[in-house]
Amino acid sequence: MTLMTGAQYIESLRKLNTKVYLFGEEVKNWVDHPMIRPSINCLALTYDLAQDPQYVDLMTAKSNLTGNTVNRFSHLHQSTADLVKKVKMQRLLGQKTASCFQRCVGMDAFNAMFSTTYEMDKKHGTQYHDRFKKYVTYIQDNDLVVDGAMTDPKGDRGVSPSQQRDPDLFLRIVEKRADGIVVRGAKCHQTGSINSHEHLIMPTQAMTEADKSYAVSFAIQSDVPGLFMVYGRQSCDTRKLEKDADVDLGNKQFGGQEALVVFDDVFIPNDRVFMCEEYDFSGMLVERFAGYHRQSYGGCKVGVGDVIIGAAALAADYNGAQKASHIKDKLIEMTHLNETLYCCGIACSAEGYATEAGNYQIDLLLANVCKQNVTRFPYEIVRLAEDIAGGLMVTMPSEQDFKSDLKVGQSGKSIGEWCNKFFAAAPGVTTENRMRVLRFLENICLGSSAVGYRTESMHGAGSPQAQRIMIARQGNIAQKKELAKVLAGIKE
Ligand code: SF4
Ligand code: FE
Repeated sequence: MTLMTGAQYIESLRKLNTKVYLFGEEVKNWVDHPMIRPSINCLALTYDLAQDPQYVDLMTAKSNLTGNTVNRFSHLHQSTADLVKKVKMQRLLGQKTASCFQRCVGMDAFNAMFSTTYEMDKKHGTQYHDRFKKYVTYIQDNDLVVDGAMTDPKGDRGVSPSQQRDPDLFLRIVEKRADGIVVRGAKCHQTGSINSHEHLIMPTQAMTEADKSYAVSFAIQSDVPGLFMVYGRQSCDTRKLEKDADVDLGNKQFGGQEALVVFDDVFIPNDRVFMCEEYDFSGMLVERFAGYHRQSYGGCKVGVGDVIIGAAALAADYNGAQKASHIKDKLIEMTHLNETLYCCGIACSAEGYATEAGNYQIDLLLANVCKQNVTRFPYEIVRLAEDIAGGLMVTMPSEQDFKSDLKVGQSGKSIGEWCNKFFAAAPGVTTENRMRVLRFLENICLGSSAVGYRTESMHGAGSPQAQRIMIARQGNIAQKKELAKVLAGIKE
């Protein structure tokens, strides 16, 4: 099959009977729902750019399984050059959407699962790797979106999965049958779940033997019985429900999406099970997936950062402040921070290595350093953007006021005329364009896209402490001590 267009992808979603709930009600036509559609548009762009000759080299790759051209989001990385292209593709999509475009979780899950199943089979004599290759081939051939899902609700953080008061707080196997398994539990704040055709589920942490029923991995179509999703709301999201909303949305076309994904006793046939109680490989799968996704942030957040820097510079122009030396310096600082994140994304890719299964893994230490920086620098970038934008970013009247012709006051002017009079700034700049850029910054810094830039930079792909644990493990202090001893002439 050839690659789908964005429009074909959107039509393919309509054929699914995915159960979606929002504001306490079922959403039947979730494809056209104004709060959900921007996230679908992001995914559609991952299809359309793959058809664009300008981007085909970044957006597609040659499958090692079939030799066919596939979307890079369903590719198994075959070299460090592939890893670098992945980051560049993510920066491009961040630039084009100013949002989380969601398709990377599946790509990162594919690559982690591919290498882990190989090593699992080698140790346990299981047959997961061939099964998984067949599954990836099916996804590549049909150009589907797969939602890689890892994060469980986790309940009481002080105890293990099997010690929870409610055993469902981590997703688990509740029944093993001859033809498959039955699973129960949930995945939380799951990126891009509703607009995916398929879900690839992984355990959320390393497991011990006592928790082996939680060491489970499988793939499932979005609309199977017992699977449903509760849409996560975002700051300012109901603006999207306002009549003729445009300027006030900041980013009308694109947005991210997170949901609570519930598995209420869902049957998984054997050919879609890729880990079933092999608890000793749970940690490897988590570490590899997290590593890839921490690399990813050195691309996607950088692309969004590019747009923020551009918007801040525009806001300065519109305010007539562009010549001020402190504005220039703030833009330099934002660029420095943003490019530092990119350096980390590229570095952990360039230092990648072949796994035993043959696909390429990133350098884990550098990927964790990348994500640790992402928990900090975007906050400073946003702080500087807000500094440059000015307070109007959060105090401006609504779009309806700017457009209102209701006459108020004593001089016969409308609300719109008053707003345009008092919010005019640099000569030649329309107040509408000034509003647009400020609302855009509001959307990324504080509004619905803040999910995908600010807080996701903190917690997505693992909270800061998770990276610090990995940095401690990978940092090799013992070897560094030896270096110091040699040069200092220390003989113990
Ligand atoms: Fe992709 Fe970034 Fe969204 Fe993760 S946070 S799915 S890497 S865009
Ligand atoms: Fe994320």
